[in-house]
Amino acid sequence: MNSVVIGSGFGGIATALRLKAKGHDVTLIEKHPDLGGRARVFKKNGFIYDGGPTVITAPYLINELFELFNKDPKNYIRLSPLKIWYQFIFEDKTKFNYSGDENEMKRQIEKISKDDLKGYKKLVNFTKKIFDKGFTELADVPFDKPLVMVQQLPALLKLKSYKSVYSLVSSYIKNEKLRRMFSMHPLLVGGNPFTTTSIYGLILYLEKKWGIHYSMGGNWKYNKRI
Ligand SMILES: Cc1cc2nc3c(=O)[nH]c(=O)nc-3n(C[C@H](O)[C@H](O)[C@H](O)COP(=O)(O)OP(=O)(O)OC[C@H]3O[C@@H](n4cnc5c(N)ncnc54)[C@H](O)[C@@H]3O)c2cc1C
Repeated sequence: MNSVVIGSGFGGIATALRLKAKGHDVTLIEKHPDLGGRARVFKKNGFIYDGGPTVITAPYLINELFELFNKDPKNYIRLSPLKIWYQFIFEDKTKFNYSGDENEMKRQIEKISKDDLKGYKKLVNFTKKIFDKGFTELADVPFDKPLVMVQQLPALLKLKSYKSVYSLVSSYIKNEKLRRMFSMHPLLVGGNPFTTTSIYGLILYLEKKWGIHYSMGGNWKYNKRI
């Protein structure tokens, strides 16, 4: 069967590879001169821009694409798990090393606000619920019919998706520094924590599930045109 995929971002490339692995004859169409979509590295006015994704939160999705063709991803890319995911430095020079080490996270939260430890645990539990719905259950469901969207409304209301990420975090955490820290995930895609729907809170749990990985050399290494 012949298939045409429009757009060569991660989504288009992954779709094209999955179709190819199923035996389709695939044509991938891209309007830019090179592949990658938002994950492109490109030159403009003498500057080099890394367009988007830096951290890999679900490495199995990338590895799977190689495995579909019986290739070992290690022969092509090196995804390294990071020990410290983010370092926050506040105006008063307080530092917080955000990581997947829960004991270390608890120790640092206690240093800033002991009272917020319970709220932190509740927040993580709530983001697991968002993750279970938004990632595990719905990530591969096509939202191509209005009915599919309507069917999700009760669950979205239960998960408080009418709130912003900041507002959800603030309902569990009292300290302003910790509030800002735990609601920063929309910034990763240029979003605003004060207006982005709390569905995006699933990233908080997603990171804890598989860790944060860095593609050694970045996107840059693989773009031979630059
Ligand atoms: C600043 C920023 C930082 C980010 N950081 C991370 C991160 O650290 N980790 C992470 O996992 N995600 C991150 N993301 C999100 C991630 O980049 C996107 O989710 C992902 O790249 C989207 O891939 P996509 O294939 O869905 O879309 P896109 O990458 O947008 O690809 C769409 C492609 O379709 C092409 N196209 C569109 N219309 C046509 C047409 N008519 N004809 C031909 N071609 C067409 C476009 O040129 C483009 O190449 C970040 C995003 C941004 C913006």
